[in-house]
Amino acid sequence: MKIIEVLTEYSVYSLNRPFSYTYDGDKKVETGYRVLVSFNNREIIGYVLNVKETNLIKEELEEEWGFEVRDIIDVIDDAPLLNEELLVLADKVAEYYVAPKISVLQAMLPPSLAPRKSSLSKPKIAYEKYIKVIDDNEEGLTAKQIELLRLLKQYKLTLKREIKQPSILAKLIEVKKVVHVSLEKKRFKLPDYDYTEPPILTKEQGFAVNSFFNSDKEVHLLHGVTGSGKTEVYLKICDQILKEGKDVLMLVPEISLTPRIVEYFQTRFKGNVAVLHSQLTPGEKYDEYRKIANKEAHIVVGARSAVFAPLSNIGLIILDEEHVESYKQENMPYYHAREVAILRNKYFKGKIILGSATPNLETKARALKGIYNNIVLPNRINEQPLPKTTIVNLGDYHNIDRDSSLFSLQLRREIQGVLERGEQAILLLNKRGFSASISCRKCGHNFKCPNCGVPLTYHKTDNMLKCHHCDHVEEMPQVCPECGNKYFSRTGLGTEKIEEEVQRLFPGVRTLRLDSDSAKIRTKISAIIEDFRNLKADILIGTQMIAKGHDFPNVTLVGVVLADVGLTIPSFRSNERTFQLITQAVGRSGRSDKKGKAIIQTYIPNHEAIILAAKQDYNSFFKFEMENRHMMGYPPYSYLASITVSAKSEENAIYAACDLKDYLLDNLSDCKVLGPSAPYVSYEGGKYIRTLLLKYKNVEETNKVLQRLVSIFSSKSAFKFTINIDPYNF
Ligand code: ADP
Ligand code: ZN
Repeated sequence: MKIIEVLTEYSVYSLNRPFSYTYDGDKKVETGYRVLVSFNNREIIGYVLNVKETNLIKEELEEEWGFEVRDIIDVIDDAPLLNEELLVLADKVAEYYVAPKISVLQAMLPPSLAPRKSSLSKPKIAYEKYIKVIDDNEEGLTAKQIELLRLLKQYKLTLKREIKQPSILAKLIEVKKVVHVSLEKKRFKLPDYDYTEPPILTKEQGFAVNSFFNSDKEVHLLHGVTGSGKTEVYLKICDQILKEGKDVLMLVPEISLTPRIVEYFQTRFKGNVAVLHSQLTPGEKYDEYRKIANKEAHIVVGARSAVFAPLSNIGLIILDEEHVESYKQENMPYYHAREVAILRNKYFKGKIILGSATPNLETKARALKGIYNNIVLPNRINEQPLPKTTIVNLGDYHNIDRDSSLFSLQLRREIQGVLERGEQAILLLNKRGFSASISCRKCGHNFKCPNCGVPLTYHKTDNMLKCHHCDHVEEMPQVCPECGNKYFSRTGLGTEKIEEEVQRLFPGVRTLRLDSDSAKIRTKISAIIEDFRNLKADILIGTQMIAKGHDFPNVTLVGVVLADVGLTIPSFRSNERTFQLITQAVGRSGRSDKKGKAIIQTYIPNHEAIILAAKQDYNSFFKFEMENRHMMGYPPYSYLASITVSAKSEENAIYAACDLKDYLLDNLSDCKVLGPSAPYVSYEGGKYIRTLLLKYKNVEETNKVLQRLVSIFSSKSAFKFTINIDPYNF
C-alpha cells in the first residue's frame, strides 16, 4: 500500500501543508500527479507531494496516526505535471512571495492541467461555443442582465468563453433571451507568414547586440526610445541563441501586443514558435503547452504566465515593455514575471533582456549601478525625429476653444489637419482611478455605488450606471430618485464623451474606442487595434491600453486629453506612471516617414513628470524621481510588502491588523510598518478590509519573519490575510 501526501486545491495559508491518504490501486502515481480525494466531505483535487510504500495495513496506520485514514478516490494523470526544474521553481516562487504552494502551481499550469477541480471539466480538445440573442425584450430582467443583453445584441455571435459573467449569462439562457450555438473550431494554428529577410541592423542596433554578447552580466536592460527598433535587436539575439541549441522565452505584457510580436517571430523562425496567452481556448492552450513540453517548439511568445512555459533548455528570457504593470499578477501568488524570470534563470544560467523606452525605476537603478548591463538605443530608426510635442495649459483662457469643453484650440486645429491630410490620430485619456460621475441638476443628488460608495459612472452606449470598482450596474433612471427632476449633469469625462465630442466637431469622422467596456469581450481589443492599423478609422480613442507598444505607421498626432488624472492618485508610483504613460503615448506618433506631433493638455503644465515626458527626457526624470524616492524611502531605496487583512467586523479587521503589526515590529530589526489603513475600497463581499505596508531593507530576514507570521496567524478564524510582496497598488 502507498501513503500519499497531497496538497489540497485550496489556496489559503491555513491549508498550505500536506494531508495524508492511502492508495492500493494499480495506477502509477508519483510526485507531481493530480489525484481525486475527499476532503471535508467534498471531492476535490489533490496534488501529490510525496509517495511512500508502507507494510502497515490501514487499521495499523489509523492507530499510529490517531485519525481515520482514507483512500484517494482516483489518480488523474498518467505523467507528472511539471518537470524537475519547474518543481524547484514552484518552491522558490512560493517562498519568495510567501504564497501557498498550490496557488503557485495553479498559476503555472494551463486550465486543463491545473490542480483545481474545474480543470476536470475543461476540454482537452478544441471546440467553440457561441452565444446568440434570440429575444431582446428586457422586461423582468435585472440591471446586470440587461447590461449583458445590450452588449451581446451588438454582435451576431459572441464567443462564449469571452463573456466574463458566466452566472448572468446562465440566467439569460434560462429565460431564453439567448441560446448556445456550437461551431466547430479548427485547432490552434499560427498564421502563416512568408519568410522575409531581416533588415540590416543600424549601427546602434549592432552595438546593442554586441554589448549583449560581450557582457557576462545575467540581466541586460535594453533601454531604447520609442521607435528605436528594439524588436530587431531581440530577433537578432534570438537567432544566435537558437543556433546554440537553446530555447527562447519572449514575454509581452498584454495580449493585444502578442499578434505583432508573433508575426515577427513566425516570419523569422517559422514552425518553431508556440504561443501562450489568455485568448486561446483551454483546448488550444493544452495543445500549445504539450507542444512546448514535447520540444516541438523552441520559442514561446506569451503573456505573464508564459514565464512558466515548460521549455527545457532556456538560453534567453525577454520581457518586452518590462515596466508595464500587467506583468504583476494581482491575486495569489501576486508574482511578477520579471522576478520569476530571474529566479527561473538561476537554474539555466541563461540571460535575460528587459526592454523598455521607460524602464521601471528599480530596473534602471540596477542598470546604472552595474548590476545589470545597461544597453541604450538613444535614437529612433533612421534618425526619425521624436514627435514635436506641445504642452497646452488648460488653465489659460487663451487656449480655450469656446465651442468645445474638451479640446483646446491647439488640439482641435491639429486634429483638423490630420483629417485633411488623411492621416490618423490617437486621443488618450488616463483613466486610472478616474470616473465621470452624474448628478441631478436640481437637487444635486449623486449616484453612488451601494456596495462601495464610489460614484457611479454613466455609460451612454447602453444607458447604464456602472461602478468601476466592483461589478455593480443599474439602469439610468428617467428621473432623479430624490426630487423627480428630469435633467442631469455629467461631470468629469470618459472616453465615450470624447468620442461624442469628436463626432460633433468633425462630422463624418470615423472613430474607434478602446476602454474597459470594449475589453469586456476579450478579442475585441485585438480586433479594434487591427482595424485601426488597417486604416478603418481616422481616430482611435482610448485609455492607457492604447499607449503601449503598438506600431501604427499612419499616426501623426497623439493628443493626451487630460494628463493630470494619474497625478492625483495617492501612490508613490504616480509620477512614474504618468511619465511612462505620456512618453509611451507620445511615442506612438510619427513612427514612419511622416513627421509626428503630440499635444498634452493639462492643468498643471509645470509638473516635472509632464514636462520631462513631453521632452521624452527619461534621464532627467530618473534623477528627479530618484530624489523623491530617496527622501521618502520608497523603492529602489527600500523593499515593500503589503498585508491585506479582512474580517466580518470592522473592529476585528483593525485589531487583527494591529496584532500583525506588533508581531512584525517585535521580530524585525529594520522595518517600518505603516497602517493599519483603510484602502479606497474598504468593504467588499461582506468583509471589512485594512492594510499594512512594510518598508524594509533586509529581504531575507523579512521573508523569514513573514513565513513565521503566516504559520502563527493563519489558523485564526476571526480574520484572514494575504501578503503581497513588491505590491504595485500602493
Ligand atoms: P520599438 O519597439 O523600439 O519602439 P520597433 O521595434 O517597433 O521599435 O521598430 C520601429 C520600426 O522600425 C518598425 O517598423 C521596424 O520594422 C523598423 N525597423 C527596426 N529596425 C530596422 C532596421 N534595422 N532597418 C529598417 N527598419 C527597421
Ligand atoms: Zn461598487
